[in-house]
Amino acid sequence: MSELTPKIKKPRGVARLLDGKCIACGARCQSSCPVNCIEMTETGEPIVETVKCIGCQKCIKICPSDALEMFFTAEEQQILADLAALAVPVPEEVDPEATALAKKLAEYRGVWVFIEQTEGEPARVSWELLGVGAGLAATLGVELCAIVIGEKVEHLCHEAFAYGATKAYLMDAPVYYHYRTEAYVEACCHLIDTYKPEVILMGATGMGRDLAGAIATRVGTGLTADCTGLSIDDKRNLMQTRPAFGGNIMATIMCDKYRPQMSTVRPNVMPMTDRREGAVGTIIRDPFIVAEESVLTKVIEIIRDGHGKSAVDITGAEFIVSGGRGMMGPENFAMLKELADELGGVVGASRSAVDSGWMPGDRQVGQTGKTVRPKIYIACGISGAIQHLVGMQDSDMVIAINRDSSAPIFEVATYGIVGDLFQIVPAITSKIREMKQHN
Ligand SMILES: Cc1cc2nc3c(=O)[nH]c(=O)nc-3n(C[C@H](O)[C@H](O)[C@H](O)COP(=O)(O)OP(=O)(O)OC[C@H]3O[C@@H](n4cnc5c(N)ncnc54)[C@H](O)[C@@H]3O)c2cc1C
Ligand code: SF4
Ligand code: SF4
Repeated sequence: MSELTPKIKKPRGVARLLDGKCIACGARCQSSCPVNCIEMTETGEPIVETVKCIGCQKCIKICPSDALEMFFTAEEQQILADLAALAVPVPEEVDPEATALAKKLAEYRGVWVFIEQTEGEPARVSWELLGVGAGLAATLGVELCAIVIGEKVEHLCHEAFAYGATKAYLMDAPVYYHYRTEAYVEACCHLIDTYKPEVILMGATGMGRDLAGAIATRVGTGLTADCTGLSIDDKRNLMQTRPAFGGNIMATIMCDKYRPQMSTVRPNVMPMTDRREGAVGTIIRDPFIVAEESVLTKVIEIIRDGHGKSAVDITGAEFIVSGGRGMMGPENFAMLKELADELGGVVGASRSAVDSGWMPGDRQVGQTGKTVRPKIYIACGISGAIQHLVGMQDSDMVIAINRDSSAPIFEVATYGIVGDLFQIVPAITSKIREMKQHN
């Protein structure tokens, strides 16, 4: 008789730490515990207050080093064994929190790329992002969409189709003519609320950094800046890789509980995608307009980079001759300029050279400078610190000149020349001149 059979409750156990396995990851277990029963020691290891533990296993699932396990007393183990022997079906408990989260995340679909423009002129990084976005969209099985905001910018939707987008959300009105944070944030948040994208990519430019941060704050989601790699894991999460701790390690960051997942990527980090002339897509014209009176910022004039006498955009250069601390002084950069002129290129610099005042800041290549991807990058007297390498290692060809044969720059060099740059650079320049004369 079933009413005489006592109801057997499946023991849940308590969490406990396995000796020597905790890597002190930063108290992920503690922050996952719904009943606050984990305290952290000074060395960053957890202490579980077992009387409070409800055996939910959240800490176990989140631990990156499998340092926690469920502990069952001998009596509980016996009950589990009895249940198994009786083959009493114990329904798997549904975690309502996890179910609600999965439902919320499933509402968001699509990979979006913000098409940056200034007075109707697009930023090349937008097309680079459509290239990487296409791969993400294919993996997720969703559409690749462009966000186009401005005045008289419909042509950018068609351009976005040529670079792989299949849909464009267009907001076209005079209030959007100039980029202003308030207006663009309102516009983007309206689009996000209405159409719910899963991923948003923006250029890590002045505009992109400003806009992405403001949107992420407003919609309450995560943002990873300056990503160098993007991919999708088996749970549809965006894996965002970027240098961390001063560039000494690469960290992969995920935003698994909030949507949209937002990343910025610097210009030239992702390869330029091929343009497909005549590609078509759907334009969704969204009539949402921000009232001009509500925008406090007024743009008086746009002063573009490159209008100054010495301003040079090294990010677009096909040939870069860069100098580091080995140049010994500002006057020696003239030698690099001669070589760069022969090649039709520009002069770049390491941070040491910039910090020494030998070259202006806009010439700096690297983590806190510019990311470049020229056809040929010639590094002269640059040791090849990781912070420099992240800014130039994707160049088609790297030629390194350094008198120290163990300098790390040689690890990324296509051709390495061990020797004194003060002899080698002028010799290369005169050889090129000689070859030009004979042609
Ligand atoms: C958070 C952070 C961000 C950073 N961001 C950047 C960045 O964006 N860009 C950047 O470049 N650095 C950056 N750095 C600094 C970086 O760590 C290095 O200190 C810097 O790149 C070193 O510059 P260098 O190679 O010119 O100088 P050094 O490391 O001093 O190397 C000089 C090289 O010149 C060679 N040399 C000397 N004389 C000659 C000669 N006559 N002929 C041939 N070779 C010669 C030497 O063998 C040596 O290898 C950053 C650091 C931090 C902590
Ligand atoms: S099993 Fe659940 S309740 Fe127990 S310590 Fe881990 S997270 Fe907290
Ligand atoms: S989550 Fe794991 S590795 Fe991180 S502190 Fe807790 S036990 Fe240690």
